[in-house]
Amino acid sequence: MQAEPVLLAGLIEACRATIAANSDHLCALDRAIGDGDHGTNMRRGCEAVSAEEAALAGLPLPDALEKIGLTLVMSIGGAAGPLYGTLLMAMGRELRTLDEERDFPSVLKQAIDAVACRGRSHAGDKTLLDVLYPVQDALAHCSPLTDIARRAELSAELTAAMKAMRGRASYLGDRSIGHVDPGASSCALLTTAICRYLME
Ligand code: ADP
Ligand code: MG
Ligand code: MG
Repeated sequence: MQAEPVLLAGLIEACRATIAANSDHLCALDRAIGDGDHGTNMRRGCEAVSAEEAALAGLPLPDALEKIGLTLVMSIGGAAGPLYGTLLMAMGRELRTLDEERDFPSVLKQAIDAVACRGRSHAGDKTLLDVLYPVQDALAHCSPLTDIARRAELSAELTAAMKAMRGRASYLGDRSIGHVDPGASSCALLTTAICRYLME
């Protein structure tokens, strides 16, 4: 399976642009319950991926996703780097086994489980998993792209009511309640950007 270079480049640019436009907002969310760097971390990661677009264009899709994952681990840093990195690397790895028995939603499910394993976290812990799992569920139910994006945004908003169980926000205990999780928010932004790009 060869990566469709134009499609991949468009998706990378859509992700980079939405993170750049919302970097301050993501930092503000992270200032409330973390150390205030999530926007700059994500921005650095997206810029690093954009910078290697030419190299990615020549790779088969699973290899391209693994390379993106590795770049994210090395460039985002913090807690989010290894988690977003694991998501992309696991997707690349799992995509190699895609066949009639194994569709994309099941590949994505495996990759999200790998993130949960890496973070020793679960749905409901107030993390990016609280957006990833609902998005996977919407995809598995063949929801239209507009609904998937809406589901991602609503899921990020729902993290406000949760108590953080993992990462820096968990140090705040009950005081983390009432704030949207920055990682959930970046994940919703990325999902929406990807859905919008695919609808164009
Ligand atoms: P750091 O907390 O190291 O500064 P970031 O601010 O970039 O890293 O990322 C914070 C986000 O990472 C959180 O909002 C949360 O969504 C996610 N996160 C942190 N720890 C975990 C974990 N153990 N499992 C899943 N997600 C996590
Ligand atoms: Mg942070
Ligand atoms: Mg940090």
